[in-house]
Amino acid sequence: MLHQRVLGSAEALQKIIDIIPSPVFVKDTAHRWVLMNGAMEEILGHPREALLGKSDYDVFPPDEAAVFWATDDRVFSNCETVENEERLTNAQGLVRQVVTRKTLLRLGPGRGTLFLVGIIQDVTIYREAAAQSHFLSRHDMLTGLPNRTLFQERLREAVGHGNRELDNVAVLLIDLDGFKAVNDAYGHEAGDELLRVVAARLAEAVRTSDTVARLGGDEFGILLRGGLSLQTAAERIAADICEVVAVPVQLRQSQTMVSASVGITHFSKPDTGPEELLRQADIAMYSVKRTGRHGHRAYEPGLEIIANRQLHADLRHALERHQLHVVYQPQWNPPDGKLTGYEALLRWEHPHYGPVGPAVFIPIAEQSGLIGTLGNFALRAACTTAMQWPASVRITVNVSPLQLVEDKLRDEVCAVLKATGLAAERLELEITESTPAIDSAGALKTLHQLKALGVRIALDDFGTGTASLDMMHRFSFDRMKIDGRFVANLPQDLRGHAIIGSLISLAHSLGAKVTAEGVERMEQAFCLMELGCDEMQGYLFGHPNARKTVL
Ligand code: C2E
Ligand code: CA
Ligand code: CA
Repeated sequence: MLHQRVLGSAEALQKIIDIIPSPVFVKDTAHRWVLMNGAMEEILGHPREALLGKSDYDVFPPDEAAVFWATDDRVFSNCETVENEERLTNAQGLVRQVVTRKTLLRLGPGRGTLFLVGIIQDVTIYREAAAQSHFLSRHDMLTGLPNRTLFQERLREAVGHGNRELDNVAVLLIDLDGFKAVNDAYGHEAGDELLRVVAARLAEAVRTSDTVARLGGDEFGILLRGGLSLQTAAERIAADICEVVAVPVQLRQSQTMVSASVGITHFSKPDTGPEELLRQADIAMYSVKRTGRHGHRAYEPGLEIIANRQLHADLRHALERHQLHVVYQPQWNPPDGKLTGYEALLRWEHPHYGPVGPAVFIPIAEQSGLIGTLGNFALRAACTTAMQWPASVRITVNVSPLQLVEDKLRDEVCAVLKATGLAAERLELEITESTPAIDSAGALKTLHQLKALGVRIALDDFGTGTASLDMMHRFSFDRMKIDGRFVANLPQDLRGHAIIGSLISLAHSLGAKVTAEGVERMEQAFCLMELGCDEMQGYLFGHPNARKTVL
């Protein structure tokens, strides 16, 4: 038959396989190409004439040829069809990713002759697309850093079952303070630019083996792995980060500045998963935010309750359930060894958590609008108690700056003085310097009203806040209280020495007395006396305690 003769010719066979768009080839049992189509020539980058009769080793790099050769052998010896994904480097050095399907074929008269037929599928673009989408789904396009997904993957891998070196992993969670203000003031483009600068600074601050990721918005995460004594290393890196982030950034139109709040947590228990680590770092970071931002803090179990929403609700009922009380810490004038007064400090006995400190619940009260009620309770309790003391002993009550901006405070103070019969001169109100609200006109007006009543006003935590020489310029405080952190390392701390010396002379030149807080040791007291400090307060002279209360 004519068509059989025609189709049986080598020429016809070649023409037919040339139509197939995928590369097709036939090899003999000696691994030599005996037939191939145009697509095969194209993918190999050689003309057919140069390839027929050759084997893989004549064309490909030896490692690739060895792989091809070995799959050929499997096909020949096991008579099986083999499908393999391989790398293929062509004559021009172009690398393709291919899937090759090889099948054994017996052709010809008698028992026939064995051939291997291969069909190649070029999957390069699919693999590239997959790699690209894998990259895209794991990176943040704005900064080029890993995103939350990749960060969590790395974290999971770091704390995976195999990890026996528990103190080898630490997580830092970084949230920018003031980022929203930059966005609002200069626009999103400027905000994006700022994020890119911060990202680069963070990446610079750690080793290349650590992971810096943008977790979303203005939040970044760092995974630290390995390194001697990671505990201190993590704290040091966190401190460095606070420093580098706070360096002013030159944007296109303007210069700006943000700071960082950093939460740290260490992988310390084998059953701590990645989610738990992130949660702990988040709680630590959140507590930095609450206590004035810009700084770092390591997670500790007690911190949870700060983030506990339930606590807000519990605080609402604390008063009526009699869980709040006031304790009193003595203040002394060491040169004449005289007790001059007591500071009233609030305490909360939580039915579930036990004692919760004011550093935790005062910020909650401020946020949830309860500070007025709590402040009034403390004032009333303190003045009532003070009536039992000698008339020479002063009572000091803390007042939140938020109470100052409301205009009820004057009337409340009047009412309490009237109800308890306490002389106005015996009451001193302490206002903390660390909140910007103190600068407002409303606060200033209240301060003047209080002073007009004969009540004394002290500036708490003097030297730590943003406030303000301007404030001192506009209002004459009766007392400045020097924060315990300046006192902590006296007398060795020469800088603390210098700061306290200057604060004291500043206060004195403005006609204010000075009380130093946090005095715990004799040598601190001597040093402060030498510097001219008027009064002192601290564990050396007495802990806050409840004995003086009648409530
Ligand atoms: P503060 O006014 O600076 O109070 C001093 C804090 O230092 C108190 O902590 C006190 O217990 C602690 N302290 C006293 N002596 C020493 C010492 O020698 N060494 C050390 N390390 N610490 C010492 P506390 O009672 O936890 O109060 C924390 C803060 O809570 C207070 O800081 C004050 O700002 C706020 N606070 C307390 N009671 C009230 C209140 O009734 N109203 C308002 N608005 N704030 C309050
Ligand atoms: Ca105080
Ligand atoms: Ca203080």
